[in-house]
Amino acid sequence: MEISGVIVKAIAGFYYVYDHNGNIYECRARGVFRKEEITPLVGDHVTIVEKAKGAYVIDKIHPRRNQLIRPPIANVDIAIVVVASVSPEVSFIALDKLLVNVLKEKVKPLICVNKIDLDNGKTFEIIKNQYSVFDVIGVSAKTGEGIEELKQYIKGKISVFAGQSGVGKTSILNCLIPGLNLKVGEISKKIERGRHTTRVVELLRAAEDTYIADTPGFSSIEIIGMLRDELKYYYPEFYDYENCKFPGCNHIFEPECGVKAAVNEKKINFERYERYKEIFMQLPAQKEYD
Ligand code: GDP
Ligand code: ZN
Repeated sequence: MEISGVIVKAIAGFYYVYDHNGNIYECRARGVFRKEEITPLVGDHVTIVEKAKGAYVIDKIHPRRNQLIRPPIANVDIAIVVVASVSPEVSFIALDKLLVNVLKEKVKPLICVNKIDLDNGKTFEIIKNQYSVFDVIGVSAKTGEGIEELKQYIKGKISVFAGQSGVGKTSILNCLIPGLNLKVGEISKKIERGRHTTRVVELLRAAEDTYIADTPGFSSIEIIGMLRDELKYYYPEFYDYENCKFPGCNHIFEPECGVKAAVNEKKINFERYERYKEIFMQLPAQKEYD
């Protein structure tokens, strides 16, 4: 009999696979994966078979939609990008860079403004306004406001948290996983520890077919290995207006630019565009050789 499921944990050659009903199976990988140089990864959608009574083997690894390196996890659908209404104060440029890093990995960002209990949703309004091209929700891990909406967004998906330490990732995770009771700061500590040691990532089951990584991703605060010319591809609000005169227009120095016109007509957020220029200037124009 074949069972399909998701790898949630890998330890010393054993893989732990959840099926749709929440049953967990301890599995070995089929030997042929080694020959083909495929290593099953946490997040892989797999088919398992029972080889002998109680002995399960991963028989098929389904094609991956993406693959993060840190933490090592496949098929991430959503990055829950957490910022705090107050404390720590939002760094908009850091948020912009984080969104670029998320989109580059073919992951869909969900901006989650936490601690809305502290400023009556003021920061939430500003972020909704500037980032209207993305999904933006306001939550409070403290009062539980917005948590149901968050659950709807992540339903049936594999999610990872992103965002600086102190924004409330651990607190939100505790709201999402029944019975989980991590100490505040626990998830951020995990990533710091992970910098120097081998990361062991585990997917926590939030609901049917719904998983959240216990280790946050996208911890680099810079955009690594991207040239200036590429940056525009990670600004989805530009897409509708790229009817520029020059092919490959970067929407900064070039005349007759559709994006600049859209900024002037307030169809593209001005602050986002101004920071786009700033980030653009920080990126290398050409590949550096050494
Ligand atoms: P992490 O470092 O991103 O995992 O953040 P934590 O979950 O550890 O939270 C950092 C601090 O913010 C803790 O003191 C939490 O109690 C507090 N906190 C988290 N969420 C909320 C919230 O929604 N409202 C308020 N007022 N405080 C929160
Ligand atoms: Zn242009």
